[in-house]
Amino acid sequence: MSGNAIEVVGLTKHYGSFHALNGLDLTVEAGGVTGFLGPNGAGKTTTIRILLGLLHADGGTAQVLGGNPWTDAVELHKRLVYVPGDVALWPNLTGGEIIDVLGRLSGGLEKSRKTAMLERFQLDPRKKAKTYSKGNRQKVALVAALASRAELLILDEPTSGLDPIMEAEFQSCIREIKGEGRAVLLSSHIFSEVEKLADSVTIIRDGRSVESGTLEQLRHLTRTHVRAGFATNSDALAQVNGVYDYYDDKGEVTFSVDHDQLPNVLAAVAALSPTALVVNPPSLEEIFLSHYEDTMSPAQAAAVRGEMK
Ligand code: ATP
Repeated sequence: MSGNAIEVVGLTKHYGSFHALNGLDLTVEAGGVTGFLGPNGAGKTTTIRILLGLLHADGGTAQVLGGNPWTDAVELHKRLVYVPGDVALWPNLTGGEIIDVLGRLSGGLEKSRKTAMLERFQLDPRKKAKTYSKGNRQKVALVAALASRAELLILDEPTSGLDPIMEAEFQSCIREIKGEGRAVLLSSHIFSEVEKLADSVTIIRDGRSVESGTLEQLRHLTRTHVRAGFATNSDALAQVNGVYDYYDDKGEVTFSVDHDQLPNVLAAVAALSPTALVVNPPSLEEIFLSHYEDTMSPAQAAAVRGEMK
């Protein structure tokens, strides 16, 4: 038995002849936040439904808090909470009543924590669920999850529908949860959110993990972007090992650099006495797209970038 909060190895799941999961690996360390990224239909929700014991896997192993999510579901649900991206609530109960029902599933909520969370998310708990906006329905599930003391939070696009202030509040809650040594699986299409919160990231494609590691480890896989200004001709940089896509716009130069060649390239830049220098590591979005761009047309890739920002 591993000490990880979630340990998935070689998971497979078919829907009829369709293979939704094809040997997926996923780890969430105890006390860590793992970002779970993949395009629509990649298999994230299927994985989460298996982890919650709602679906039975066809093959591979899944361990949640040391237990089997299928056979130990009742016990495990006292120790974990789940927030879906499209929250459906009982229409005639108030938000407060629903938070209490959801809280009871994980052993009951402390009143002070519930009140504090309601204030932080500016949610009026006296209104009936059918009158809430999408964002407010999302807040009901979030307040119940974040006010609990569950050891593991499984969050499937939890902030869809939240405004930027509430998104910031969510991020500060997750940082507190991490500080308390609790674990979070965060499936999200919001790269900036994952970049800020996750200790490690797993990227999936067609039901298989294509990349897993800390953000720092994943950054090694794609190139760093450099922008520099030079008073004199700097074209010699284009020939330096590890430099790609060199472009000189009247002394304003841009290029990308292989991670392992960065020291040599920066030494070559320094030798040319730059007047300005900006070095940007690849964003999580670029790392993600580097795994998918081969399947997209240039127009699609551009559209995805716009959609996912
Ligand atoms: P999204 O980002 O859109 O939520 P996802 O990564 O969560 O996507 P899943 O919902 O896990 O993706 O779906 C994975 C694949 O399995 C999809 O191609 C989907 O159409 C298929 N699928 C999911 N549920 C079923 C089902 N009950 N019957 C048949 N196919 C299904």
